[in-house]
Amino acid sequence: MTTEVRNVIIIGSGPAGYAAATYAARASLAPLVFEGSVTAGGALMNTTEVENYPGFRDGIMGPALMDEMRGQAERFGAELVPDDVVEVDLTAEPKVVRTATGEFHARAVILATGSGYRRLDLPNEDELSGRGVSWCATCDGFFFRDQQIAVVGGGDSAVEEATFLTRFGAKVTLIHRRDELRASKIMQERAFADPKLEMAWNSEVAAINGTDRLESLTLRDTVTGEERQLDVTGLFIAVGHDPRSELLAGQVDLDDGGYVLVDHPSTRTNIPGVFASGDLVDHNYRQAVTAAGTGCAAALDAERFLAALD
Ligand code: FAD
Repeated sequence: MTTEVRNVIIIGSGPAGYAAATYAARASLAPLVFEGSVTAGGALMNTTEVENYPGFRDGIMGPALMDEMRGQAERFGAELVPDDVVEVDLTAEPKVVRTATGEFHARAVILATGSGYRRLDLPNEDELSGRGVSWCATCDGFFFRDQQIAVVGGGDSAVEEATFLTRFGAKVTLIHRRDELRASKIMQERAFADPKLEMAWNSEVAAINGTDRLESLTLRDTVTGEERQLDVTGLFIAVGHDPRSELLAGQVDLDDGGYVLVDHPSTRTNIPGVFASGDLVDHNYRQAVTAAGTGCAAALDAERFLAALD
């Protein structure tokens, strides 16, 4: 256990956490960053090319981008620790953050633990991520120009992704387990009117096929059990996402979906000195650049909070 009270502890190491770390370090706040033990670097560690992060005209591989962000934070003196935070007491003064190895104290805490896309839990899903399998049409749609694309899901975001992807794909097949969609009426009407969009009703993905790249899906009819092959080179999984806020339940206010509520446009939560950023607060955009943007805002908010205490 350490008795030192840090200015700021940052929990999470995606674009939000590292951007917050760089800003806090450059403001001489000597931030301590818990990066997480499994996926230090965040969601982009699991992807290949990132073409839409500003500043890289030729694109950059996801892990390389995160390595740059990490190195930038470190260069200004952020202390980076690849451990998971297992418990917090954010109402205590100073605030308490616990990992498997110790207890840490800070006057301010920035939350940046991101969100996780729900998965189909099928073999090949991870292996072909970034090689045809994607969770983000805005990020990856452009890679699938004139190709056969499938989207799996039935809610608003699945239908929105499928409609958006018809801009790129030769054909988009929306795979849904039932014979009607959960998406809003207006979205459905738009989708059904789209000549490039086809429905695979009563269907679920039974297998994701391909060695180096996605080649096809095996679809199973949820009524008859019959299986068929769908040749596609792109699969977008749109079955939902969950903010990583388990740690925060009972600590800060969350919305019904488990996202941390902040006092927009600031990053302030309902607990003074606790700020939240990135996909953990974001239902709408979920992009690396927006996460980095709110990470920056959280560091500036924390800096102002600490200045007012002094
Ligand atoms: P994350 O990147 O999710 O990082 C959160 C971090 O917090 C993780 O490292 C996690 O390990 C850590 N953490 C969680 N809990 C704890 C804990 N208890 N203790 C310590 N650490 C913890 N966006 C784009 O703009 N362009 C793209 O091309 C693009 N491609 C994508 C491809 C894929 C496959 C995926 C999944 C996402 C993609 N995105 C893309 C979206 C983008 O990655 C996210 O919007 C962005 O990473 C969110 O940043 P974040 O910092 O909020 O969270």
